[in-house]
Amino acid sequence: MAAMYGSKETTPLLRVKNLQTGFKIDGEYYNAVEGVSFDVRPKQIVGVVGESGCGKSVMSLSIMQLLPDGIGKIRGGEIEFEGQDISVFSDKQMNSIRGKDISMIFQEPMTSLNPVFTIGYQIEEVILNHENLTKKEARLRSVALLKQVGIPRAEQIVTEYPHQLSGGMRQRVMIAMAIACQPKLLIADEPTTALDVTVQAQILELMKGIQEANDMSIILITHDLGVVAEICDEVLVMYAGKIVERALVEDLFRGPKHPYTELLMKAIPKMDEDVEELATIEGLVPSVVNMPPVGCRFANRCPKAMPECLTVTPQLAEVAGRHEAACLLYEESWPTDGKREREGVAAL
Ligand code: SF4
Repeated sequence: MAAMYGSKETTPLLRVKNLQTGFKIDGEYYNAVEGVSFDVRPKQIVGVVGESGCGKSVMSLSIMQLLPDGIGKIRGGEIEFEGQDISVFSDKQMNSIRGKDISMIFQEPMTSLNPVFTIGYQIEEVILNHENLTKKEARLRSVALLKQVGIPRAEQIVTEYPHQLSGGMRQRVMIAMAIACQPKLLIADEPTTALDVTVQAQILELMKGIQEANDMSIILITHDLGVVAEICDEVLVMYAGKIVERALVEDLFRGPKHPYTELLMKAIPKMDEDVEELATIEGLVPSVVNMPPVGCRFANRCPKAMPECLTVTPQLAEVAGRHEAACLLYEESWPTDGKREREGVAAL
């Protein structure tokens, strides 16, 4: 189980244990998330980083039980929220906590906001679903929420439609909806990716402010380590459905341990660099149907790969202090049977 990071609180708000989420392709399930375990403690901001196709969003949709019906399925593990395994909750049970105790915001607010209803109606719908308030009280709350997320002319905006707002303002509306019932956990999936850099910074600052004011925990899903550096306490790096590195943010930036994280760091835009010069990671994340059955899933793209990386599966283990990595460059990541195999390889 993961070591305790960040907060001194001992009881996690969310505990994900050995999560396996599969997708049905041609009648067969393939795991897009494979044995993921982590904790989120009260008031903690945990960043989950990795390229597209690494399983970050599937993991968050699993927590929310929003996997596409008949296609995506939790195939193993547990998702404990406040001590209860919500992975086995019925739709009715999930509806009672979704939007209330756990909320989610997505990358593109236009896909989450309904174009035919006013902003006010949509925020009030969330409030009235979970709280025993009159419509008038819900309207007052929605105006207050819009003010809290920094929307000017809130009394007017509640009567307007999503298309009348800019992308940044729509994302603020999504945040207002997500925090309408003061959730304990907010899952933000690429919340700033569709926004320009200045607006991105404003939205991150807003989320951090709300997190502090509401004592909320956040899981921030992103492909951008620069975003993680801005507001997270702890970071999980995912590759091909697995966690390959876990550390406090300052430790990760001081010295990444996994070669994949090192390459992600080189891809963070710097103020004084031309964006076109950014490093990219050659090759592609293996698709779920082509996952290597053994060995390191990053081996075909890793500049430090060794022959054993193709045959021995690295384990996530503490490689320095409270810093974990799954890479055979570290003795701690070698499974017991792998060590025996290594001796065999060395003898070749
Ligand atoms: Fe690279 Fe091998 Fe480490 Fe995988 S286990 S990241 S291939 S060195």
